[in-house]
Amino acid sequence: MASHITAPLHFPHPEAPPNGGIVEVAPGVRWFRLPLPFSLDHINVYLIEDNGGWAVLDTGIDDQITRDAWEAALAGPLAGTRLTRVIATHFHPDHIGLVGWLTERFGLPLAMSRTEYFFAQTLRANSDALRSAAHQAFYHDRGLANEISKSLRTQGLSYLSMVTGLPTTFTRLIAGQELRVGGRDFRIYTGGGHALEQVMLYCAADKLFFAADQVIAKISPNISVWPWEPAANPLGEYLQSLADLREVIAGDSFVLAAHNLPFVGVHSRIDTLLAHHRERCDLIAVATREKPCSAGELVPVLFQRPLDPHQTGFAFGEVLAHVNFMLEIGELAPVSVQAGNVMRVSSSA
Ligand SMILES: [Zn+2]
Repeated sequence: MASHITAPLHFPHPEAPPNGGIVEVAPGVRWFRLPLPFSLDHINVYLIEDNGGWAVLDTGIDDQITRDAWEAALAGPLAGTRLTRVIATHFHPDHIGLVGWLTERFGLPLAMSRTEYFFAQTLRANSDALRSAAHQAFYHDRGLANEISKSLRTQGLSYLSMVTGLPTTFTRLIAGQELRVGGRDFRIYTGGGHALEQVMLYCAADKLFFAADQVIAKISPNISVWPWEPAANPLGEYLQSLADLREVIAGDSFVLAAHNLPFVGVHSRIDTLLAHHRERCDLIAVATREKPCSAGELVPVLFQRPLDPHQTGFAFGEVLAHVNFMLEIGELAPVSVQAGNVMRVSSSA
């Protein structure tokens, strides 16, 4: 890929509010910072002015600390105001964790993309699938040790403890349509890769882009293949989404993402993300030119630091995303194996 001359990002609000704090970042837009119990230790929730009330964009995870932060906000900076609806960008627990709690308590409608809504419902309804032998084989057959494969098989269940469920009805957000919130019209965009049909909102008139997890200032969002769809190509979907966004989002837009600081410089950030994934593909190409490798064997090629089993699961999913993408575009070829053997790939260049 051609190297890009990328302008540095600009951060109009260089200080994040403290956990539980709310600040106005644009007229009628409030930034609500909530803690997360992970190494990524926060999420940005946004409140968008909505005919005298506030639409809630994502909710934070369901744990006591986050509920307490909401209670404090409702009794403090949000006292006397009205919440109008919840808009959820995707099914991950930090985004929809408190949807059930908020919508039930305040009688709020939920707006979400169809795939994200039904996928979240499926995880709750069919949690046994997360323990299935096929899910363990997914890791094992691609070169992860038995011990780790077993521990990863049950890990998905922790998702259920971090979400309060969804209301039984919702309003579908459809890519390409407009969503009116208060005095603004937002164009709805959706993208794959990090999630299945993640929603982003763009107000062209005010150059406000709510990017969710698709474009974040500092971190590269997790792009993983998961056991329920082993042949998925989320990296291909993600790269396409980034290329599409680069065409339609104005370069001087104010990007309000779900993590890190809000920023200006979306084209520059997209170029960096595209180059990052190309570099990772190149590392895999070099390694698999020497000898065929399984996805498990490629984990240390992309992740040199020691990883615990939890991190290994994410790293493996990321590696497989790059492998499946490279298989799709013909940069890798599967190495034929006898039944029972580990699946390996080799560079076709
Ligand atoms: Zn996410």
